[in-house]
Amino acid sequence: HRINIAIDGPAGAGKSTVARLVANALQYVYVDTGAMYRAVTAIALERGLSSDNAPEIGRLANELEIELLPGEDGQRVLADGEDVTGRLRSLEVNRNVSAVAAIESVRRKMADLQRRMADAKGVVMDGRDIGTHVLPNAELKVFLTASPRERAERRYKELGDNPGITLDQLKLDIAERDRKDQEREFAPLLQAPDARYLDSTGRSIDEIADQIVEWGRSAVRT
Ligand code: C5P
Repeated sequence: HRINIAIDGPAGAGKSTVARLVANALQYVYVDTGAMYRAVTAIALERGLSSDNAPEIGRLANELEIELLPGEDGQRVLADGEDVTGRLRSLEVNRNVSAVAAIESVRRKMADLQRRMADAKGVVMDGRDIGTHVLPNAELKVFLTASPRERAERRYKELGDNPGITLDQLKLDIAERDRKDQEREFAPLLQAPDARYLDSTGRSIDEIADQIVEWGRSAVRT
């Protein structure tokens, strides 16, 4: 029998890498919910919408068809059939995504889609509100974090050779995003009371993934 696994936590805690490893080990489907909010944000910005334009962005989120395709080299994101994966990690999207994700109608739509993906069980879903809001009955919930310094360094490395930002500025951006994610009214970033807390500071990603796989296997047995 299969279970659902929710992995929540702040930006740069290693959630997506860990979630992918766990999904591979268990042969489950990995769902990166952050990519969905990023897709709405990228399209909104490309259409000239400001991230505080809640009515228009809400409408966009409800009209846009978002599909997640699990693939060998990670998850691809399609918006109205177009592959937008390469446009989701820009500094502009990073800076606007939390405002977009705070719009209640956007969140309701994404949570609906996410619940449908988890219907058949066997998903590892990473996000901010999965254990508290999207899948409150997930059999295993993990709240994954790391020190602010380590989180910023991880994200910095992801930006490659031309990061276009200093490490200090990135640290500020991440702190700002976390603050907005924690302070929004509807489905904020929060540890579920029944989630296991994991701090990945100074630990390898493999070690963290192994721990979650072990918890997952024991949850399947019970
Ligand atoms: O996980 P990632 O850093 O890609 O998420 C980008 C942003 O999407 C987060 O900072 C947050 O604003 C939003 N998000 C969310 N709820 C989720 C996943 C992501 O609000 N479940």
